[in-house]
Amino acid sequence: MGNPLLREVAEPFTKEEISSDKVKILLEDMWDSLESAGGIGLAAPQIGVSKQLAIIEVADASERYPEAESSKPFVIFNPIITVLDDDLQGFWEGCLSVPGMRGYVERPRKVQVDYLDEEAMPQNVVLEDFLATVFQHELDHLIGKLFIDRMNDISTLAFEDEMILLNEGEDEIEK
Ligand code: ZN
Repeated sequence: MGNPLLREVAEPFTKEEISSDKVKILLEDMWDSLESAGGIGLAAPQIGVSKQLAIIEVADASERYPEAESSKPFVIFNPIITVLDDDLQGFWEGCLSVPGMRGYVERPRKVQVDYLDEEAMPQNVVLEDFLATVFQHELDHLIGKLFIDRMNDISTLAFEDEMILLNEGEDEIEK
């Protein structure tokens, strides 16, 4: 947080770029970064590349998000997001670019994402509940937005250590 690149609107990829060795190396780097940070999603601007690429995978028993349902790995180029249900749902979001902190964010509960996959083939996926929030959070990085911009009540911004104390004995961190 504070790096101006995180506030830029990222550039789309051409189909040729998606198939390039350069992008394969970038993707390897992103998966390594995501795994070593124990995160569930990462966008290219978070590692200093202002391009429209994000990866998402909610692993079984994610350490940072233990209550989350697992997902397959997604590689998302040039996404377009459409809200399918604007009823709001809230989660305590964290971000590898805002380390050590969580904030309560409400977002639409159901979205569709149209994107290109690793083979530059058009795909679309409908996401609900926690995964809808994960996709919206990651794709926000591609338009220069961080979760703190989406918070209605900045007083819910908290250090993770404090949140653990706050939620001790409770089953879920979801409000
Ligand atoms: Zn983030």
